[in-house]
Amino acid sequence: MARPVPLIAGNWKMNGLTASTRSLASELATRVRSDRDLGFEMLICPPFTMLSTAAELVRDCALKLGAQDCHTASSGAHTGDISPAMLRDVGCEYVILGHSERRTDHGETCALVRAKTRAALDAGLKVIVCVGETEAQRDAGETLRVVADQVTGSLPEGVTAETLVVAYEPVWAIGTGRTPTTAEVAEVHAALRQTLGTILGTGAAEGVRLLYGGSVKPDNARELLALDNVNGALVGGASLKVDDFWAIASAV
Ligand code: PEP
Repeated sequence: MARPVPLIAGNWKMNGLTASTRSLASELATRVRSDRDLGFEMLICPPFTMLSTAAELVRDCALKLGAQDCHTASSGAHTGDISPAMLRDVGCEYVILGHSERRTDHGETCALVRAKTRAALDAGLKVIVCVGETEAQRDAGETLRVVADQVTGSLPEGVTAETLVVAYEPVWAIGTGRTPTTAEVAEVHAALRQTLGTILGTGAAEGVRLLYGGSVKPDNARELLALDNVNGALVGGASLKVDDFWAIASAV
């Protein structure tokens, strides 16, 4: 199977007011529109409050829109929550699920991530399911087991290569300026591909995009994105700076 088109996804986290959203999304949209040979798919995931503003700016443009979480239900008595149907309605194509900040700050378990993934797929969204080990787990030599367990536990029946993206984000690398070595990233991504093979079948697993995330910057993007089994990046802090995010994407 041909190497899938790389995905460069920006996770804005809890950042973005109207002015900064307008400026960042419109500048990225302009660059995407004027690049005739975009060799990657670019995605921005602003906070819920800015999705509508961003959706207007990326309309009729290859720049994709995503959210950072969703509920398992399509509507109902869930104060403060946002459903997958609402995300589709506002113009989202993707949703990030199981980010380590949600697993830690909100106690999200693999079972909950699996239920959210099912609901998002049923609503017609594509999902980016995040996995990754803590520093203690890496030091204890448990990384491969932890990420395999997270992938297996977080994916529902019936996922397909077209709608599933998996992001490997070592918890200790997020927002710290530290990254695993390229050999360590390559080892985890190869293991993830193998685990996906047991879930989806080997052929289909080849088509799933595996993103690396955790302190991706313009100066380390090229070596990370060149690795086998790395099909893009999930970028936090650097996705808030238009030149840095574009430089990371251009490193593809
Ligand atoms: C993230 O939170 O998804 C992330 C990768 O953050 P950062 O790039 O800031 O490490």
